[in-house]
Amino acid sequence: MLVMKFGGTSVGSAKAIAEVAAIVKARVKQKPVVIVSAVSGVTDALIRLAQESSEGKNSEIFESIHGKHRDILLELQLSETLCDKEFAELQTLVKTARKRKGKLTQKTLDSFKSFGERLSSLIVAGTLKKAGVPARGFPAWELGMMTNDVFGDSDPLPESSALLKKKISALKPVPVITGFIGKTKKGDITTLGRGGSDYTAAIIGAAIKAEAIQIWKEVDGFLTTDPRIVPEAKIVHELAFEEACELAYFGAKVLHPKTILPAMEKNVPVQVLNTFKPNGIGTTIVSSFAERRHKSHSVEAFSRKKGITILHVRSPEFFDGSGLMAKLFRVFEKHRTSIDLIATSVVSVSLTIDNTDRLEKIVHDLQLLGEVSIVRGKAILCMVGGSINAAGVAGRIFTELGKHEIPVEMISQAASGVSMTFVVDECDTERALKILHQEFIE
Ligand code: ASP
Ligand code: MG
Repeated sequence: MLVMKFGGTSVGSAKAIAEVAAIVKARVKQKPVVIVSAVSGVTDALIRLAQESSEGKNSEIFESIHGKHRDILLELQLSETLCDKEFAELQTLVKTARKRKGKLTQKTLDSFKSFGERLSSLIVAGTLKKAGVPARGFPAWELGMMTNDVFGDSDPLPESSALLKKKISALKPVPVITGFIGKTKKGDITTLGRGGSDYTAAIIGAAIKAEAIQIWKEVDGFLTTDPRIVPEAKIVHELAFEEACELAYFGAKVLHPKTILPAMEKNVPVQVLNTFKPNGIGTTIVSSFAERRHKSHSVEAFSRKKGITILHVRSPEFFDGSGLMAKLFRVFEKHRTSIDLIATSVVSVSLTIDNTDRLEKIVHDLQLLGEVSIVRGKAILCMVGGSINAAGVAGRIFTELGKHEIPVEMISQAASGVSMTFVVDECDTERALKILHQEFIE
């Protein structure tokens, strides 16, 4: 079985939905299990509808959501009444919220948010049927997606996996399943967090041990770097999960790695593909870097994160102060601020953070350990590829940057050879990316 997940833009118009149906139809032999997001913009609209309704307002948003879906149905020449049951249910929810008037709970909000995917799954299933592919729309909970009751950010219950497998394997028509939503054991509707449809695809793909999980989006896949800075950027055809994590953390916004973790744990490859260029190869994310390393012989992608602040902490106690490092980290734990990079010397430690909301308190506590200085306006460059730690690669990186007089600090190379990261001045970021891209990719 092949899991195929289509994001909000991929189901964002009648034309896009027709494209989705054609893509699924072409792969019908691979037994597709389709997962869909809401039509783009609809989840946001539902949240506003929930807010306005619970303020007692007579919101116009219901009509606009209704109109948007009705237009799509008409354009696809599907029955105008296909989603009537869902709209009646949503209207009841609106009325109840208006009558109750008051604080909007996460639980009620999740019920509102669930309608985007419930509607799009029916429309995509209808379009497939019209194209001659037997298909049926399902809310994920009907197929076993049970979650905990952390409304707004829930996770699947362990028993979901076996249930999903049993129910999905038994289906004859192509299932078109709602991403993003589930139900608690008690029967309350939950959501998996914004952008959660990828998570649904990974959970289902892992449960049924799919041959692959395809994430269909409006981009070609992971690129060698941000094409807005380097127009020559190309698609990276394969990445290990760890590499995708590094790139995503340091700026690439293609996929949130957390959402595909269940697939990686079960060794199911994840492909990122473009709905609007269905013949592209896209990017495949495989679970093991160790395996990939033997195939990959170059530096393959770069990302960057701006708005970085460096904290230098100097203390003679670092000489023999065992335990000083622990105290230092505890400061960041206490103020819930995560550290991105760290570099140490005998008498000092340098750390980078991107969230400076609690900077004052952090500095206050660090001053109890040593002398602290703050440097703002920095950026982190991150590069991945199988040969990052091969002889000469680091030399080439820093020689090229040196030739262009770009100073580098806090160099950090993951021991596993997954990535190389370092800090440059924010104003040098774009130039550094161009130089390195030219040296290693072009
Ligand atoms: N529709 C949901 C959202 O906009 C889930 C998703 O698109 O993945 O967050
Ligand atoms: Mg979305």
